[in-house]
Amino acid sequence: MKRILQILLVSLIVLIIILFFNTLQLKPIQEGSSVAVEIPRDDTAALHLSEAIQIKTISFGDTLPIDTAEFLKFRAFMEKTYPLMHSKLEKQSFNQFSYVFKWKGKDTSKAPFVLMAHLDVVPVEAIAESKWTYPSFSGMVKEDTIWGRGAVDDKSSAIAIMEATEQLLRNNFTPERTFYICFGHDEEIAGKRGANIVSQWFKENNIRPAFVLDEGGMIDTEKFKDVKKPVAVIATGEKGFVNVDISVTIPGGHSSQPEKETAIDVLNKAITKVRATQMPPIITPPLQSLLERTAAEQSFLKRMVVSNMWLFENVVIKNLEENKQTNAMVHTTLVPTIVKAGIKDNVIPSIANATFNSRILPGQTSDDVVNFVRNTINDDRVTVKKQTISLMEASSSTPSDHPTFKMLESITKKIVPNVLVSPYLMIGATDSRYYRPFSEAVLNFTPMQNAKGFHGIDERIGIADLSRMISFYKLVLAEK
Ligand SMILES: [Zn+2]
Repeated sequence: MKRILQILLVSLIVLIIILFFNTLQLKPIQEGSSVAVEIPRDDTAALHLSEAIQIKTISFGDTLPIDTAEFLKFRAFMEKTYPLMHSKLEKQSFNQFSYVFKWKGKDTSKAPFVLMAHLDVVPVEAIAESKWTYPSFSGMVKEDTIWGRGAVDDKSSAIAIMEATEQLLRNNFTPERTFYICFGHDEEIAGKRGANIVSQWFKENNIRPAFVLDEGGMIDTEKFKDVKKPVAVIATGEKGFVNVDISVTIPGGHSSQPEKETAIDVLNKAITKVRATQMPPIITPPLQSLLERTAAEQSFLKRMVVSNMWLFENVVIKNLEENKQTNAMVHTTLVPTIVKAGIKDNVIPSIANATFNSRILPGQTSDDVVNFVRNTINDDRVTVKKQTISLMEASSSTPSDHPTFKMLESITKKIVPNVLVSPYLMIGATDSRYYRPFSEAVLNFTPMQNAKGFHGIDERIGIADLSRMISFYKLVLAEK
């Protein structure tokens, strides 16, 4: 008995030593020696963004046409507002309204960099319009803020890139490397006619970018409550996308005398089963980095938990699962988005089907998703099939020790005092997904802080944010 107690005591001491050792290893990333740059408030750029917002370049839906007059108006606005960019850079258009500007660098032996943004925006629902503080496409500039659809997503990026380019051209600046500036016109409906086609042109011409920068991560001072500094998250990878159709066929009949189970009943049970459980969690490398970098700024207890994932992984995952955003970072998600059955109130339909939309974590595949759905439903009457048309497997991630990540980290520290920079995994999808297969590094980040209202009500951006974004792109363009 005494011997057992001794063994237990020794084990406990060893455990405590390991926990403490690992905890003390987790230190904040050494601050770079970046010197802060002064960011001038750019009221002219604010007016340009306001003008851009007023042009309704809306992507209504996959199968709905766009208003070409508005896209033509946007082209005219670009030509009028950024004349040097249009006269000095090589310009091409793809499917009319997506554009690529080539800015030839001094050293053409170096692989080029790509800056991306999209020119289209999502519509505003009629029912939501009255809830906006200012009309949704007014581009109202009030004190320090620019209001309207696209202020955040993503006209501010497009405007900031064009302002930075135009201002540098005005000073006769030439970048060291060649830059391609790519603007898509249908990102909000998956970029099939825009970024997809442009990326094919890159491949056909054997242009392999060393770095692609697109929208995605931002600066946050609200969500990471226990970190007492702004957190800039740079996405190093993104989740995949697959739709899975399930279908049930059971002869229907008159609704006055239903069978025990109808096609709708079986479909309903299948959906409920899938929704009641989740695919196995994964702590991906970007998430692990985010946990470590933020924990390093927090209490000893938090540091102990994150630095000893071999012991606490389940606790961490449980915690992350409590919130829908963080849950999506540890799980491949599956949710029904379309359900169809029935044509008449007194006829039991013979067919019922549904579509699950799934966002796939790196480390899992669309086949894993299909197998999970099939095994979970476990009912031969339900056919399960994946759609291939919009399928996109999860991307490979750019490692956080890649030189371009360090480059963005150092630039961000120059423009945001006392910032903590971290990789993370993007749970949505952007146009940059098309570039991942043939680019060395793809990162998603714009330095706006606590962005408000994108895809929702009262979308807006501070003039300070827009000014910071212009400085940011200038620094990127000045990189060697
Ligand atoms: Zn966007």
